[in-house]
This record gives sequence, C-alpha cells and structure tokens, in this order.
Amino acid sequence: MSQNEATEIQFRSDVTVELIKHAASDADVLWAARVSTKGESSLEEIQADPERSRGLINFLMRDRHGTPFEHSSMTFYVRAPIFVFREFMRHRTFSYNEESGRYRTLEPVFYVPAPGRKLVQIGKPGKYEFVDGTEEQRSLVAETTKESYRQAYRAYVEMLEAGVAREVARTVLPVGLYSSMYATCNARALMNFLSLRTRREDSAFPSFPQHEIEMVAEKMEAIWAELMPLTHAAFQSSGRVCP
Ligand SMILES: Cc1cc2nc3c(=O)[nH]c(=O)nc-3n(C[C@H](O)[C@H](O)[C@H](O)COP(=O)(O)OP(=O)(O)OC[C@H]3O[C@@H](n4cnc5c(N)ncnc54)[C@H](O)[C@@H]3O)c2cc1C
Repeated sequence: MSQNEATEIQFRSDVTVELIKHAASDADVLWAARVSTKGESSLEEIQADPERSRGLINFLMRDRHGTPFEHSSMTFYVRAPIFVFREFMRHRTFSYNEESGRYRTLEPVFYVPAPGRKLVQIGKPGKYEFVDGTEEQRSLVAETTKESYRQAYRAYVEMLEAGVAREVARTVLPVGLYSSMYATCNARALMNFLSLRTRREDSAFPSFPQHEIEMVAEKMEAIWAELMPLTHAAFQSSGRVCP
C-alpha cells in the first residue's frame, strides 16, 4: 500500500443494510403455532382466512407466546462504524460474521456525524436528551474527527509499509472506522433488537438507543415489515414488546 492510498480517505454519515437471504413470512408463525392440530394446512389458510391469521398472530404477540416467531431466518449485510457493531453484538440471539482486520487491510472509510445529528447531551443518566449544539461545536466535531482519522490511518499504513502485521498495526484505528458483517436472526430475536434499538414514544417500554445503531435498526425494520406484515403490525400494536 502506498502513502497515496492512505490519503484516499472516505467519510460517511450513513449506514448500509441489505437483506442477503431469508426464509421469513407470516405463514411460518402460523404453521408453527398450529402444528399440533393442523400441521401444514395452515400454509394455505393464511390466504383463505387472513382475518383468522391476523387474530392468531395478535394473540401470540399479546400473550407473549414467543416460540412460533422463531421459525424464520433473515440474513442482513450491515456496513456501519465499529462502535455500532460493539452495541449490536451484545444481542446474543443473532449469529455474526465480521470482516477480519487480521486477514485483510482495512479500508479507510470513517464515520462523521451528519449535519442533523444532535451533538450535545443534557440531563441525567437514564434520562438524557440530545440537542443540536452550536455551529462552533459542529465545525469542531467535523474537523477534529476527520483530522484524527487521517492521522490514525497514516500511522496504520506506516506500520504496514514497515512490515508490521495487520493485526498489530490495526491497534491505532478508532471505533469510527467502518466494518462489515452478516447478521442472521429470527423474527423473535429481531423484535427484541428493535424494541431496544429504536425509539418510539408509543412503545410500552420506550428505549433511548444511540442514533447510529437506530439508523441500522430502522432499515432492518423496514425490510422485515415487508416480509412479515401481520407480525410487524402485531408487534407495533402490542406496544413493541418482544413476545
Ligand atoms: C439504551 C441502551 C443502553 C445500554 N447501555 C449499556 C451499558 O451502559 N453497558 C452495557 O454493558 N450494556 C448496555 N446496553 C446493552 C444491554 O445491556 C444488552 O446487552 C443489550 O441490549 C442486548 O439485550 P438482550 O440481552 O435483551 O439481547 P439478546 O442477547 O439478544 O437476548 C435476547 C433475550 O434472550 C434472553 N437471554 C439471552 N441470553 C441470556 C442469558 N445468558 N440468560 C438469560 N436470558 C438470556 C433474554 O430474555 C434476552 O432479553 C444498553 C442497551 C440499550 C438498548
């Protein structure tokens, strides 16, 4: 890698979420819930009697019969800063595979907050609010983050060029660096994630997630709502409580 490449730093303020593969539909929930009495015939019933299907899913959600929601699978490709991944990977019911900083050279793509991102925290722990901040604070964040990213990536490249192993050189890189991963989950695991990583005033138990993981969660929710509209509607109407 040349010093030239070290200067080709990219700054991003967004995240990438793509659905890579899935086996996830409302019929999977119904099939699992009815297997003891009806077995596979429930797959046809969802079209034959949508109201009954909606009623059963609402009942399962409301009474927190969670296991029928586990018979689905979604694999997402996520590209986001490392500090988002640190929060994300606390969710133990997902399966993960992340790009390696030992086996490949990490690309210089770094996170810089978008102009609308609130910068100043006020209030007490557990009851924080965030406000915009001044123009001076905004410029300070933009300039300081970019400068320290440049410096850190220069140091990384310098060590690589001197023959230092990638796994050692990467120690200077900050958590604003973008990483990528596949994350696979079922609908129940996803609902637990969404209940904690999105912010809705009308939730039964409102959560206060960090803005950047919320950007990821919102994109995942939009994809999931298309795949499992009855389940998503039931989740929403039951106060976004994971069953
Ligand atoms: C706003 C916010 C602030 C946070 N702040 C902090 C912080 O300051 N410090 C910090 O360390 N973490 C923090 N976290 C992370 C938090 O403590 C959880 O680790 C994270 O939200 C994952 O939740 P989970 O355990 O429900 O998810 P998962 O690991 O996906 O688990 C899903 C569900 O499975 C069950 N489960 C999974 N594993 C076990 C187990 N071993 N034993 C029993 N039941 C299990 C539980 O019912 C759990 O709710 C924060 C999270 C949020 C949303």
